Amino acid sequence: MIEIKNFINGEYTTPQSGIYIDNYNPSNGIVFSKVPDSNEADVQAAYVAANAAFEGWKNTPAEDKFKVLNRIAELIDLNRDKFAAAESLDQGKPLWLAKNEMIRAAQNFRFFATAAMQFSSESHAMEDRAINYTLRQPLGVVGCISPWNLPLYLFTWKIAPAIAAGNCVVSKPSEFTPYTAYLLGEICNEAGLPKGVLNIVHGLGASAGNAIVSHSKIKAISFTGGTATGRHIASIVAPSFRKMSLELGGKNPNIIFADADLEKAIKTTVNSSFLNQGEICLCGSRLFVEQSVYEEVKSKLIEAVKALKTGDPSDPDVRVGAIVSKPHFEKVLGYLKLAKEEGATVLTGGKALQPVGFENGWYIEPTILEGLNWDCRTNQEEIFGPVITITPFNSEEEVLNWANSTEYGLATTLWTNDLTRAHRIAASIETGIVWVNCWLLRDLRTPFGGMKQSGVGREGGWEAMRFFTEPKNVCIAL
Ligand code: NDP
Repeated sequence: MIEIKNFINGEYTTPQSGIYIDNYNPSNGIVFSKVPDSNEADVQAAYVAANAAFEGWKNTPAEDKFKVLNRIAELIDLNRDKFAAAESLDQGKPLWLAKNEMIRAAQNFRFFATAAMQFSSESHAMEDRAINYTLRQPLGVVGCISPWNLPLYLFTWKIAPAIAAGNCVVSKPSEFTPYTAYLLGEICNEAGLPKGVLNIVHGLGASAGNAIVSHSKIKAISFTGGTATGRHIASIVAPSFRKMSLELGGKNPNIIFADADLEKAIKTTVNSSFLNQGEICLCGSRLFVEQSVYEEVKSKLIEAVKALKTGDPSDPDVRVGAIVSKPHFEKVLGYLKLAKEEGATVLTGGKALQPVGFENGWYIEPTILEGLNWDCRTNQEEIFGPVITITPFNSEEEVLNWANSTEYGLATTLWTNDLTRAHRIAASIETGIVWVNCWLLRDLRTPFGGMKQSGVGREGGWEAMRFFTEPKNVCIAL
């Protein structure tokens, strides 16, 4: 049994309550680790350590910050196999995918190591009267809370800019997937990150997470997770006027026009629908296909999806692994039941699966549903599993209305070779990200985040560095 520990002031510690939570291997339903059930006292200890480290870290020269963060990236790369195995075990994702994600976890540190060196402030001259400059100062102790779908990838995406900007961090990974964040502590020590700069408190959102967001001295909250949780967090953070960045759910449209490169669109759609069991906030869950090519796209897609192997995450041929947890597995199955009640026709998949040797794991067949109205619950609510709907459309105006019909606004994927149309739709669609003829192509300098109920604020590049700093205008009369 693996015992996960908190990482506070550079040391692995047990929770003050002495209580642990069982953590399951989603591939076989067996408990393989125990996770600290941390409470307010653990969060307070993490805060004290972070606060004590702040003055030193804030004043550490940018080049030294760069060296430490860059070294963490190198050490993640060197330990890639170990981290990937831990991530796959914890999350249920295929091992090959976990290996790819570890590259990105290292990149997050490398990217923001460089940002620490390059981040600079603006100055504004008022002719011969004055010169203004903007001091961008770190906030102090900040809170970072991340979800279970891309555990280390999203954890590092938050903590790397927070630290690069000179803050100290109290963080909480999801209690379903704490393993790689736990391993990261060791690497931070080896890389020479000063004690207290990064503190990791494990436990439940309702206790440990809530203690972080409620802590009045924690200056900002960067949160990625569900919209309902985001709303709850905002209700705690907003009245005290602390900064927050919320990356929330999505119900993303994937639109294929008849003039698109259909082969490429179908191939990418298989990925954008079912990668990581569909448990990526950016997955396209509502596929809209122009009527004239609908039957062709549908039949080729069904064929490609039927060929996806679902099962043991360590099998290199497996494309779809296990669903992260029993409650989430049941939630996705609940949506499949609802979809059928709403009149869906199941084109492929549609039920749970018990692969031989993994009968107690949580597997769901990659599923395509047809025949649903754009406004039914299946087409409006985030399912966050290997389930998509497919709908034909007749005009650009019609599909734009449907695409914009949900309360979410995270990402759109658009397939067309008509450049004018691509620009037109990109400008009028209500999502924070628009991919044209590609999906999940990420440049870490770009603003990342959603509109409407998909979030508040943006991550990535200077957006993240700005979020984690306070701009102060200094005006000097000449
Ligand atoms: P949750 O909202 O359930 O949880 C996210 C994190 O918040 C977890 O660490 C959770 O802890 C914690 N948490 C839960 N309740 C509280 C609370 N009251 N106070 C503080 N922290 C709390 O999301 P999931 O983990 O289920 O992740 C899936 C969701 O994340 C999906 O909606 C998905 O779309 C979204 N997401 C958005 C992304 C984006 O960039 N926009 C990217 C990836 C995912 P615990 O696990 O212990 O409950």
